[in-house]
Amino acid sequence: MPELPEVETVRRSLSARLVGRRVVGCRARAVRLRSCVDPASWQPLLGTTLVRVERRGKFLLLVFGELSAVLHLGMSGRLLVVAPGAPLQPHTHLTLHFEGAELHFQDPRRFGRAEVWPTARLAEVPALAGLGPDALAEGVEEVLLAAAARTRAPIRSVLLDQRVVAGLGNIYATEALARAGIRPTRPAGGLAARRLRRLALAIRSVLEEAIAAGGTTLQDGGFQDAEGRAGFFAVELCVYGREGLPCRRCGSSVRRLALGGRSAYFCPRCQR
Ligand SMILES: [Zn+2]
Repeated sequence: MPELPEVETVRRSLSARLVGRRVVGCRARAVRLRSCVDPASWQPLLGTTLVRVERRGKFLLLVFGELSAVLHLGMSGRLLVVAPGAPLQPHTHLTLHFEGAELHFQDPRRFGRAEVWPTARLAEVPALAGLGPDALAEGVEEVLLAAAARTRAPIRSVLLDQRVVAGLGNIYATEALARAGIRPTRPAGGLAARRLRRLALAIRSVLEEAIAAGGTTLQDGGFQDAEGRAGFFAVELCVYGREGLPCRRCGSSVRRLALGGRSAYFCPRCQR
């Protein structure tokens, strides 16, 4: 699933390729993603120009003046910028035709979102209104300390909760915990403030390094940026997806266990 670094990588490529271009055509299929794609809602974008591309957590906002497209890649979504008239890949639910380029939104598993909202009312979009601060924004340390103090839930669950901090998924929550030396199963409420501060720093460093590497493309080849390129952060992963392999710090075997229905990876020696 694309997380903050992958979505930021896509944001940067969309921004570089499409900002300043006018929408000259649009084709939206009425499919059920996380929410229904309403073809009629996309037609008012015709003739507008893309002003900027923003990111909030894992959401992308394409701002066309008074209207904005709210996009989420879900589990398997891809946004690809292609030449006009390029063939449609399977599961392409939305095509925005710009002057000189097309944007294709593909989503085989259909957990993504694609909605049009008035820009002035973005604060009312339910999916956006509930988000905590972006994981790269200021103040992550404070919200983490406050959220951890309120719960006995495992610390990884706190990191995955988009209402606490927006943008982390299993890969980067796992890697931040490894860097901070904290076991994913550790009850959040029992963690000392200094360890949570170290975790906040680890979140920032792992996200910034992953963005610099263009995101993480696992062996399933899932993630591609808007130009169809893979990201190179997978080689830097310390514990994620490395069950039985040596921890990159101490050489102990990385362990995996099921936690909240999703795999948790950790080094039994470095993470306490
Ligand atoms: Zn280790």
